[in-house]
Amino acid sequence: MILDIKKIQTDFPILKKEIYGKPLIYLDNAATTQKPRSVVEKIEYGYYNVNANIHRGVHFLSQAATEAHEEARRYVQQFLNARSSNEIIFTRGTTEAINLIASSFTDECMSAGDEVILSVMEHHSNIVPWQIQAAKKGIVLKVIPINDWGELCLDEYRSLFTERTRLVSVTHMSNVLGTINPVKEMIEEAHAHDVPVLIDGAQSVPHMKVDVQELDAEFYVFSGHKIYGPTGIGVLYGKEEWLDRLPPYQGGGEMIATVSFEKTTFNELPFKFEAGTPDYIGSTALAEALRYVDGIGIDNIAAYEHRLLAYATERLNEIDNMRIFGQAADKGAVISFLVGDIHHYDLGMLLDRLGIAVRTGHHCAQLLMQRLGIEGTVRASFSFYNTEEEIDQLAAAIERLKGMF
Ligand code: PLP
Repeated sequence: MILDIKKIQTDFPILKKEIYGKPLIYLDNAATTQKPRSVVEKIEYGYYNVNANIHRGVHFLSQAATEAHEEARRYVQQFLNARSSNEIIFTRGTTEAINLIASSFTDECMSAGDEVILSVMEHHSNIVPWQIQAAKKGIVLKVIPINDWGELCLDEYRSLFTERTRLVSVTHMSNVLGTINPVKEMIEEAHAHDVPVLIDGAQSVPHMKVDVQELDAEFYVFSGHKIYGPTGIGVLYGKEEWLDRLPPYQGGGEMIATVSFEKTTFNELPFKFEAGTPDYIGSTALAEALRYVDGIGIDNIAAYEHRLLAYATERLNEIDNMRIFGQAADKGAVISFLVGDIHHYDLGMLLDRLGIAVRTGHHCAQLLMQRLGIEGTVRASFSFYNTEEEIDQLAAAIERLKGMF
């Protein structure tokens, strides 16, 4: 299917903005995506029409808000093809979801000397929560290396398993290299050792079909704001038997069944993991964002972004002294690069002056930067609302700016 990008762009009012008098070219989608009008309208509609605290009220509005929140949960369930809506926990985002698992899983399933396998390409969100547990509980982190194309070394991965391995926690897609990891194969390997798996889907869910039953990971997490939804809402998918088994992460209202000073009993799933008033407006807006994505079709999005990536790779490679980091055979729409010895920060700042928003720095992946032997990169990351013309302008701008150094 050919996407009508011009029409799609009109759904995103911010894309009409001018920055320093130049039309905005937004190429920072891996950091966060822009929001279609329908998502923002859903937030406004929620606050103006269905705003009342959920799960607690007998009155009309409270029940309507509760139903909207639970309907959103069912939409996420269907989007991920989870077995049950009990397997969908709303969190503040990927980071909170990983912290939840790191804390609850370590409490329940790990003791000093037990091991978690991560990879060198993880975002800090999938490293630091484990380091905190390592410092508290003496668990040990093992790290899968990458090859020079930016792909995980699967032989090394297989050799990391020991009888102390308790969990594998890896990203589906790298936010720096764009590498799409062969997570299905990796999950099968972990299961062969009876080890459960957590997949960080922050970068993958916006760009490809994710079917949690097919992947069979025990836990899968993503952030709403990276898939055209609002900030402050995200999802932890967990297999029901695992979520049942793990202790709550935070205590408070909503997550309890009964409270006395002698003993508190916890609520059933999914509420056990949603302490306090949930972001019931955010959840409905997230579902609206997923509906928007479904309207275009995730496979159409994947195909279009794949073409954009191929085009951008070709155009950027025409530039002298261009170094692209990440040449994996399976790669999503992210390009990290450096040009000659121009500092990434300088290039990013000058591109900004031309209206082109890219990200610079270590991208919350300092371990990966150390492995690559660099401090940071410039990163252009694409969405279905980007075009080949914008990529031409990026390439032309880099050529022009190069002359200034
Ligand atoms: N994991 C990956 C791979 C990411 O790219 C990001 C954000 O860039 C995160 C985790 C953290 O996401 P959030 O800040 O939405 O919690």
